[in-house]
Amino acid sequence: MLTHSDPNPPLSNLQSSILNSQPPSANLPSIRAVLLDMDGVLYVGDRPLPGVQDFLDYLDATGRRWLCVTNNASKTPAMFTEKLATMGVHASPERIFSSAQATAMWLAEQIQTGQARPGKVIMLGMEGLRCALLDAGLELTDDPFDAAYAVVGAHFHVTYDDFADLTLAIRNGARFIGTNPDTSFPSERGLLPGTGSLLALLAAASEVEPLIIGKPNAAMFEEAMHLLHTQPAETIMVGDRYETDIAGAIKLGMPTAGVLTGITNETDFRAADPPPALIVPDLPALLDAFREADKMTS
Ligand SMILES: [Mg+2]
Repeated sequence: MLTHSDPNPPLSNLQSSILNSQPPSANLPSIRAVLLDMDGVLYVGDRPLPGVQDFLDYLDATGRRWLCVTNNASKTPAMFTEKLATMGVHASPERIFSSAQATAMWLAEQIQTGQARPGKVIMLGMEGLRCALLDAGLELTDDPFDAAYAVVGAHFHVTYDDFADLTLAIRNGARFIGTNPDTSFPSERGLLPGTGSLLALLAAASEVEPLIIGKPNAAMFEEAMHLLHTQPAETIMVGDRYETDIAGAIKLGMPTAGVLTGITNETDFRAADPPPALIVPDLPALLDAFREADKMTS
């Protein structure tokens, strides 16, 4: 049995770890684009995972398009680029698509097309969300009674006053929107509270359930594929969390690869219904699978 402490498993082991319907040779050569979750796939917190640049280089070398698609709304694309650079991974800001951007773009479009009323946004979140909302042309307010929308993303320094303002806004009729549903996220110390936990507190306080834009919701994947000009059947989603990365992508008809470097363990991936098309220990193993599959068809 493979463990993710072995970064370069022999292929025979790799194949034995991929117990699901299709062997990688059956469909990896037809993959034209790759969506990569970030935390738990490229790194865990501030700890880089092995083989990321090699994997991206192989995608580039084989003419495959790729985009990092993250539910993490705390950082701007430029901040993610910087973080990856410290880990020796080169990804320009255009290669990063966060749930903050997806949420801001979606809300701006709803207002522009008349499907939602014009109005200001009170936000609970960090720089990534603030920049995304402003970049999308939305107007921010700190006044809970002046807000038409209450938008919530990850916030690592949240206070009781923040929760109070958002609760008042939602109770006053502001539409409650969350960037992503993740209740936790991995760190060097273990699982820490994520945006979904903030949303749960606000839902309890306001007695209103949020509308959530990020993975596993279709809007996030569809926008990412739109940016890459690619179709679901030829786009593989690589993720560590079944219920967001994998379940959402499968619903849209995308092939999926579950990696064991983050949240969901091998047992839970295998038990999921439906399971990911591939289960691999890490990106080096997925790179091996791509290489082998491409070799067999070349
Ligand atoms: Mg993840």
